[in-house]
Amino acid sequence: MIQFDKINKQILSSACLQCEDEFFQPPTTNIPKVGCCSYSPTFYLLEIAKMINKDEAFFLKHILHHPKALLSPYHITVQAQVHSDYERVFWKESLSKLEADDLRHSYSICQFFKNEKGCSLHPSFKNSVCRSFICLSIEARLNEDERESLHSWTQMIKHEEMLFQRTHEQALMDLGINLLSDPSAVMDYFKTLQDKKRD
Ligand code: SF4
Ligand code: SF4
Repeated sequence: MIQFDKINKQILSSACLQCEDEFFQPPTTNIPKVGCCSYSPTFYLLEIAKMINKDEAFFLKHILHHPKALLSPYHITVQAQVHSDYERVFWKESLSKLEADDLRHSYSICQFFKNEKGCSLHPSFKNSVCRSFICLSIEARLNEDERESLHSWTQMIKHEEMLFQRTHEQALMDLGINLLSDPSAVMDYFKTLQDKKRD
């Protein structure tokens, strides 16, 4: 039911191929079944550093300069594509903000989701949410040992991302650079870090 990919530190499940989770079913037959890949992923410094060192051109084109990128000083969110059918939902005006957000989410598809292959990102570029999951429909089908493994892998994945973020956000702050003010300087910072690791 679940496997841990040690190389890319990601949890995988065959259940995602045909997502049965009630909350993530598409609202109409026009919307592809993408499970929880209706999400707008936020890329933190851990993933950003990996992209810069593994595939700088990808980082520049598909993350930093993505037309749907929302840049923050130390992370980047790429907003999901909202299906045009959402505009035709006439009754959305009567919903609360929370209900409207949930509805919009159900019409959304992550920009990196490709119908033929699912997530198109290199696994090492996926953030901690995409490499782990809190999925009630999967958890309900796990035995006690599998549930414990799921929780410890999830904690390890999130801890690594949080620690890297805290350390390098502080270092970038000390240098007075960030992704908004000077993305090239941030890129140089991570390239130098990688060079030092190699020495
Ligand atoms: S993690 Fe759960 S909700 Fe997401 S695609 Fe897999 S089965 Fe569906
Ligand atoms: S980045 Fe990949 S795993 Fe994450 S939501 Fe998008 S398609 Fe799904």
